[in-house]
Amino acid sequence: MATVYLVGAGPGDSELMTRKAWRLLGEAQVVLHDALMDVDGMHAAAPEAIWVNVGKRCDGTSVDQAFICRSLVGYAKRGLRVVRLKGGDPTVFGRLSEELEACRTAGLTVEVVPGVTSACAAAADLQASLTLRGVSRSVAFVTPRVGRKEHAKDNEWLQVSLAAQTVVLYMAGKQAGRIAQELITGGKSVTTPVCVVENASLIGARFRMSLSELARDGLPEIVGPVSLLMGEALMAAQVSDLALTTGDNDQAIELAVG
Ligand code: SAH
Repeated sequence: MATVYLVGAGPGDSELMTRKAWRLLGEAQVVLHDALMDVDGMHAAAPEAIWVNVGKRCDGTSVDQAFICRSLVGYAKRGLRVVRLKGGDPTVFGRLSEELEACRTAGLTVEVVPGVTSACAAAADLQASLTLRGVSRSVAFVTPRVGRKEHAKDNEWLQVSLAAQTVVLYMAGKQAGRIAQELITGGKSVTTPVCVVENASLIGARFRMSLSELARDGLPEIVGPVSLLMGEALMAAQVSDLALTTGDNDQAIELAVG
């Protein structure tokens, strides 16, 4: 029976893929991938495979989840070795359960391979620890974005974000100002540091502001995927508008050396 591999690709930089992910790509005949940021780098692992972009974007140009599930099953049932390459870690806001269920229902064996989630990559870029002795011993990965089937007024995300000492907000860039206002209204300190990391592990904006500044100004226009990291543990984060995190990018080197 065919096995489908649901594999975490990490946050962007192909060097952050696990050796296992790399090996499985090398054995794959079909790769169904998210809108990954370093597809070219990852492509090197499976140049012979058919690469199918099934990436979803929050601007609406998304591939239907049911189509992704059908494709996974369809390719695997034709006897092809399929890797489903998902951004970050597949178990974090990745619609993993739908894909698992589709494969199981079709009688396929599935293996899930973890990846570096963007929260951890963003913290690494900031040279900050998400937990910090005496300051933070809880971290919550939260999204304020509600799925179509959920209740629009669901504010569980807010309760969790108020309770955790460090909070990483996924899929929150577009509504960041409103989110900050709701957190302040809920009682979060206005001085709470918020770090904004765009394109974690690659080149992008990294800056810090207070929760009140975020509530007042929102975020500037940002193109890439953004994670917001919030909490006193981020006080010592290293921020600069552009960060050099990959060794082989000429443009980054130019920008870094001025
Ligand atoms: N499974 C992914 C998350 C998918 S949800 C993971 O583990 O990282 C998509 C959200 O993840 C984006 O809206 C953004 O908030 C965050 N994200 C994904 N890649 C990112 C990156 N390279 N830098 C910053 N945030 C990222």
